[in-house]
Amino acid sequence: MNASPADQIRLLDLQALDSRLDLLAHRSNTLPEHADIQQRSSDLTELRSLAVAAETQLSDTQRELVKAEQDVEQVRSRAARNQQRMDSGAVGSAKDLANLQHEVGALAKRQSDLEDVVLEIMERLESAQTRVSEMTARRDDAQHSLAEAETRRDAAQAEIDAEVEKVTRERATIAAVIPADLLKLYTRLRETQGGTGAARLYQRRCEGCRVELSITDLREVRAAAPDTVVRCENCSRILIRTSDSGL
Ligand SMILES: [Zn+2]
Repeated sequence: MNASPADQIRLLDLQALDSRLDLLAHRSNTLPEHADIQQRSSDLTELRSLAVAAETQLSDTQRELVKAEQDVEQVRSRAARNQQRMDSGAVGSAKDLANLQHEVGALAKRQSDLEDVVLEIMERLESAQTRVSEMTARRDDAQHSLAEAETRRDAAQAEIDAEVEKVTRERATIAAVIPADLLKLYTRLRETQGGTGAARLYQRRCEGCRVELSITDLREVRAAAPDTVVRCENCSRILIRTSDSGL
C-alpha cells in the first residue's frame, strides 16, 4: 500500500486523537463517583426501609395506645355507673349493695392496671417517635449526600463530554483527508491491536510493541520508498517513519 508521507504522519495524529478518545471513554466508565454513588444509593435504600419500619412501629404503637385508653375509659364509666347506682339509694338489698361495692373495688384495681398499661405504651410511643426522627433525619442526609455525589459525577462527566466533543471534531477533520484504504487498514489494525493501529518508528523501535527492529527489518525499511506504507514485523501495526526513526 502506498500513501504520501504527509498522510502517514496524519495517521499518527489520528492515532493520538483516537487514543485520547479511548482514554476519555475509560475515564468516564471508571469515574470514582460511580462507586461512590452506588454505595450511597444502597445506604439510602437501607435507610429508607429502616425509616418505613420505624414509622410502622410508631403507628402500631399509636393504635395500641388508643385501644388501651378506650379500655381505661370503659372501666372508668362502668365504675361511675355503679357508683351512681349506689349513691342513688336505688339498691335496696344489703347483698346487692355488697356485690356492687365489691365490683367497684375490682374495677378500681382493673382501672389502675390498665392505666399502667397506658403508661407503658406511652413510653414505647416516645421511643418510637425518637426512632422515627432519627431514621428520617439519617435518610434525608443520605438522600442529600447522594444528590451531591450525583452532581459531582455530572460535573466530571460534563468535562469529559466537552473534551470528547472537541477531540471528535479534530479527528473528523484529519480523518477526512486521509486516503480511504489507509484509513481502513488503520481502523482494522486498531480493532485487533488493542486500539493502536499506527505507531511511530522511534530510534529503531516500534512504539506500538516497543520491540527494536532487527537489522534485516531496518534494512528493508530504509530501502522502502517514502510513500510505501511499512508495517512492523512483530506487531503488524503501520510503522510511521519520522526524522527520529534512527534509520
Ligand atoms: Zn510493533
